[in-house]
Formats: sequence, C-alpha cells, structure tokens
Amino acid sequence: MAMDIRQLFGQVAGKALDVLVPPQCPLCDAIVVAQGGFCADCLKTLRFIAEPCCDQCAMPFDHLLPIKICEQCAIAPPRFARARAALMYDAGSRGLVLGLKYGNRMETAVTLAPLMARAGAPLLAQTDLVVPVPLHPRRLRARGYNQAVLLARALTSRTGHRMLPDALRRLVDTPPLADLSAEARARTVATAFAVRPRHLGAVRGALVLLVNDVLTSGATSNACADALIAAGAAAVFVLAAARAGHGPEE
Ligand SMILES: [Zn+2]
Ligand SMILES: [Zn+2]
Repeated sequence: MAMDIRQLFGQVAGKALDVLVPPQCPLCDAIVVAQGGFCADCLKTLRFIAEPCCDQCAMPFDHLLPIKICEQCAIAPPRFARARAALMYDAGSRGLVLGLKYGNRMETAVTLAPLMARAGAPLLAQTDLVVPVPLHPRRLRARGYNQAVLLARALTSRTGHRMLPDALRRLVDTPPLADLSAEARARTVATAFAVRPRHLGAVRGALVLLVNDVLTSGATSNACADALIAAGAAAVFVLAAARAGHGPEE
C-alpha cells in the first residue's frame, strides 16, 4: 500500500513538474512530450544496442550467426562474466554522456536509467548487488558527484536492487585513459581498486553488477572485477550507459 501511495505521489509530482518546467529533450533542449524523452531528431542519432551482441563485452554483432562471444573475448576473456550497454558511444550519444560526466547535467542519469534497465535486463535478473565504479576522492571533490553513482542510484530506484555506492574505492588517482593504448590502460588501472573492508560481507558470494557510464577497452571494468572477485564475489557483470566501438577514437 505504501508503494502505491508513493507511486501515485510520483505521478502527481511528475505532472506538476511538467506544468512548471515543460519537459525538454536531454540532448537539444527542444520541448518534448515527457520528462526524460528525446525529440524525434535526436532519437534518430542514437544507436541503441540490441541483441545480438557479445554476451561478455556487449559489442554488437553485425551478423546473425549463433555465436555468443566475440572474437576478442574468445582470445582474451575479460574478468567480468557478462556485459550490456544501452547505447553505442558515438557522435549521437557523446553529448549525453559528457553532459552527465562533466557538464553537471545530473538529470541525464534519470533519462539513461530506463534504457540501461532494458539493455541490462538479462543481467539484472541474476544480480544480487549493484556497485558503481568509484572516482578517486580528489576527483570526486573537484566534480562534486560521481556519474556512475547517479546512474546506479537511478537504475536501482527503478529495479529495487540493493546498491552500495561505496563498496569499491579507488586507491590511485589514475590519469584519463582516453589517450592510452589498451595495454597501457590495463597497466594503469590494474591495482587501482579495492573493496572496502566493511562491505566484504555483502560482496562475498554475491553476483555483482558493476555500473559505469562508458565501457571502452574494459580496463577499468576488469580492474574493478578483479577487486570484487578477490573479495569473494561469485561473478561480476557490467552495465554501462554507452559502449565504445573498436574505432581509432576508442
Ligand atoms: Zn533533441
Ligand atoms: Zn566480446
């Protein structure tokens, strides 16, 4: 019953918000019909990742062969068991992701959460615990928020999963990985993460879903998965808002 009242209140509050602040497209600020919805033009620029994609790294397949794992994962399996992402990280979605990360567009997390819930449904069905990729305290102080925590919070408020925003901590303030090769990325973040001792009990034996904004080379997700597995996690899944391709920019 309490849930019904909250839902009703949420709907009433949502309608009141629509009157006070007409819903705008998160990408171009055009007026749209519902909060969090995209305008038709921006929607066309977004590439949603749907199956078939690699079950382990979420890279979309451009074929319909009955293969679950991509060649790259077969050669060098990631430390996480499965991954999904809502969107391709490209010219269409970049503004959305960077706005959330650097532009103080924190409401974007609420827009992305339902897309992530849909893409990550096969993982969420098995997940015991949701954990966001942490920022180093120095970077958190400078930015004021961790975009992965915002995504994890918006996601779990929809799905009801248990979420521990500080289960992992970042021990090393690693430089931005964008300009590094895949090997250098892996080396840079290899020992950058650890599970906080007070959360060891929650992680031990759990199927943990790691949440991040962008899945690129997998170096950060691998390093987080290593730390979670070392702490006794049964398996680690990864759910990202966006997935980078294998192009030169990534
Ligand atoms: Zn738009
Ligand atoms: Zn793969």
